[in-house]
Amino acid sequence: MYWHMILLLLSIFKEGICFENSKVNIAIVGGGIGGASSSHFLTELFKNNVNIDLYEANTLGGRLATVQINDNEFEAGGSIIHPKNKYMQDFVKLLGLEHKLSHGKRNSIWNGDKIVYEESEWKILSLAKFIYKYGIEPFKLERYVTSIRRNFEKIYELQDAGKSFTSITSFLSTINPEFPNSLKTSIEDKLLNLGYSEKLIDELVKASLVVNYGQNTDIHSFVGFISLAAADANLWSVKGGNKKVPEHLIYRNKHVNVVSSRVMKIVNIETNNTQNLYEVHYSNQDSTIVMKSTYNIVILAIPLTTDQKFLINFEGFPRNDFYNMEKYHDIIVTFVQGDLKPYYFGLGEELSAILSCNPNKTIVNSIGRLDSVEGTIEDKVWKIFSNKPLKTNIIKEMFSNIQEIKQVTWKAFPEYSTRIHEAKFKLHNALYHVNAIEWIASAMEMSSISGRNVALLAYKDFLKTVCFRETVQKNFEKICSEEIMQTRDENTPSSEL
Ligand SMILES: Cc1cc2nc3c(=O)[nH]c(=O)nc-3n(C[C@H](O)[C@H](O)[C@H](O)COP(=O)(O)OP(=O)(O)OC[C@H]3O[C@@H](n4cnc5c(N)ncnc54)[C@H](O)[C@@H]3O)c2cc1C
Repeated sequence: MYWHMILLLLSIFKEGICFENSKVNIAIVGGGIGGASSSHFLTELFKNNVNIDLYEANTLGGRLATVQINDNEFEAGGSIIHPKNKYMQDFVKLLGLEHKLSHGKRNSIWNGDKIVYEESEWKILSLAKFIYKYGIEPFKLERYVTSIRRNFEKIYELQDAGKSFTSITSFLSTINPEFPNSLKTSIEDKLLNLGYSEKLIDELVKASLVVNYGQNTDIHSFVGFISLAAADANLWSVKGGNKKVPEHLIYRNKHVNVVSSRVMKIVNIETNNTQNLYEVHYSNQDSTIVMKSTYNIVILAIPLTTDQKFLINFEGFPRNDFYNMEKYHDIIVTFVQGDLKPYYFGLGEELSAILSCNPNKTIVNSIGRLDSVEGTIEDKVWKIFSNKPLKTNIIKEMFSNIQEIKQVTWKAFPEYSTRIHEAKFKLHNALYHVNAIEWIASAMEMSSISGRNVALLAYKDFLKTVCFRETVQKNFEKICSEEIMQTRDENTPSSEL
């Protein structure tokens, strides 16, 4: 009997054993890179035994989107990818997409009064100016940031080994027990404690935080280090647009059905058995018809702050505190086709990038010359990041020969601080949240990692609760009846046989 039981328990973990009669129904809410990554890793784990409905209220890709100017398209949301971002690299390879390397830019740092640092046309001269101004501190900082990045990359090994995490603290502390502390310390305090100078922090570090997250040196040090890592060489993007990754991951997956609707409500249905059932209520764009479907697992691949456009009602859950009180940071991206006026910024000649280290004074966070998603640079198109919409008269002060202006407004990323907010990947028995990871740092790779984390959580929970019980019960009954038969046989006199 005991051997039977052990074999039975082992067999549960054999592929597909509890999917004999039906498929697992999963809803994913949100068709950005987080939802797309979840759908990919769920399919990898559940194999053919899954039906996924992916709900998208707007456009697949979410914060990965392009705008068109003349015949060319330009990245309007998430644009640069680090060369060591493993999952983005894997997706691009798997989908047969191509890399587009960023053209080298001549950078400058502007504090609103003057340009405090300006790269030269000659690399060697730039290096000499850089060392003269900041000494060897930036190189020391680069080594430190690289060591943190390498340490963080342990997540890939952990995930390959099937490890999953229910909250951001358990996620970070498993990678390195010191990492959760970095959520409580500002990048400014952390760097001052490490002995870095105020000049380096106020100029180089601040410019990186302002251009990448539109925020200041009071943000927590983990996201600060992620931002600094984005200053590495060989940054890339996807030829044709980064949005191609989520689009292709979703459309090429035959187990995923895209539902172009807004999810309005999710209801936890009480059941008598161990199965979780959630009812997803959704409607078309104008909210005229509300429909519903039922799922075993629901993955939320959307930010859960009350300042978002499409809010969801949760009903029937023991706790109803899935939305947190924090906010997302507004970023306005303005595209201008025209000629930059270098003297407005105190520059003698046109440079390809101006980064602000004092956005309260400069109004803009950064201005950079763009190449299109195909890599062409003929059009003089500039991308301006700002924390508030730019008035036309300001744009006219900065540019001449303006041919086109376009603006995109984003709820871009969390408003970071050092207030601890324990974001959870698991919200209820089979309800998971991809975007919890954004409270550590918001980036395409982070959403991809989180997509794999929730897929692992969902799969393991499903095996434990549903497969385990169904398979054990079914086989236990079979084993018991065999045992009873055997005992009966042993006790039965031979004449009766
Ligand atoms: C301006 C900007 C610049 C950035 N730069 C970079 C960068 O250079 N590098 C980098 O790595 N990252 C960058 N990021 C961050 C990166 O883009 C995001 O971290 C990432 O795209 C988030 O993806 P997601 O799938 O988690 O969320 P989203 O892309 O926001 O996807 C969520 C989707 O859910 C949909 N949705 C929401 N509510 C509902 C509902 N109720 N029903 C149905 N659908 C719903 C939305 O329409 C959306 O499509 C940038 C972001 C912005 C805005």
